[in-house]
Amino acid sequence: MLSPESKRELVRQQYRIIGSHSAVKVCGWTKKMIRGEGACYKHAFYGIRSNQCLQMTTSISCANRCTFCWRGYKAPVAKEWEWDVDDPLMILDGSIKSHLALLIGLKGYDKADKKLFEESRHVKHVALSLTGEPIVYPRINELLALFNKRGISTFMVTNAQYPDAIRDLAPVTQLYISLDAPNRKLLKEVDVPLFRDYWDRLMQSLDAMAGKKQRTCIRLTCVKDMNMIDPEEYAKLISRASPDFVECKSYMFVGASRQRLSLKNMPYHEEVVAFAKQVVSFLPEYEIAAEHTASRAVMLAKKEFKIKGEWHAWIDFDKWQKLSVAGKEFSTKDYLAKTPRQFIC
Ligand code: SF4
Repeated sequence: MLSPESKRELVRQQYRIIGSHSAVKVCGWTKKMIRGEGACYKHAFYGIRSNQCLQMTTSISCANRCTFCWRGYKAPVAKEWEWDVDDPLMILDGSIKSHLALLIGLKGYDKADKKLFEESRHVKHVALSLTGEPIVYPRINELLALFNKRGISTFMVTNAQYPDAIRDLAPVTQLYISLDAPNRKLLKEVDVPLFRDYWDRLMQSLDAMAGKKQRTCIRLTCVKDMNMIDPEEYAKLISRASPDFVECKSYMFVGASRQRLSLKNMPYHEEVVAFAKQVVSFLPEYEIAAEHTASRAVMLAKKEFKIKGEWHAWIDFDKWQKLSVAGKEFSTKDYLAKTPRQFIC
């Protein structure tokens, strides 16, 4: 999947390649939390402990070349899986080992919080996002079952170009679809998709998400002067998938995206809030439940998660872990937890 040159470049950028198609990179927020500089927005929104989070992918290749993506255009792209299929246990153990090795340097760092560092030795969450399209890994469900057995929660992000993979996906703690434009024409400009039927694939993916029983979320990456338009059209697409949560999050002027966009395309937090308010005005069953200024992110949640006037958007990870290995039907409502007051807006 990767040329020796691309591999060298990724390793230079602090990635670790696991086998032939997976990769790990420590998230900036994991380090920040260990240094006592705060946690990521998913901590505020859902209770993720950023210091115990593993950021990885099972497929470095992608079927989109999104304009706002920090990946360079040299990164591998493909529509179908054309590579060896690595063993899920090798990927799991190799990823955790590389992640912990990348973090070890913080042990001696004088500003590091010793307790938070010790906690980080025990991975509790995995974010299957990082780069590429992790959902296309042919043995993804086996890997998810291994994460469940290890008591590691699973967040999975997909760019909605593989509806069958979404339909066939085993339960994950929270499934994300990236929705990058409100119409066919703009989606082509923003995501530069490989598939000619990219729009139909998005529609089928939204329908597949509507069929999921566990937590679902649609993320809007807000790029100023590009896709922060037509809130009503966004709302129609969101309603089609009926996700539990919606995130409006600012594009970040980082990595190779700086060759394609400018700092002006990064909206201020207030602009993201204003756009989220426009979108939610067309979604009567949702309400703005939380925001995270440092990440310029706003979360909408279904009103049904406001129980007796209190938001329950956090995740009960112990309950998730038990349900995920019990082999019985379960749904979002079975592993909700109350959102601490300090994270409610
Ligand atoms: S949930 Fe995402 S942002 Fe938060 S620590 Fe994990 S990878 Fe980073």
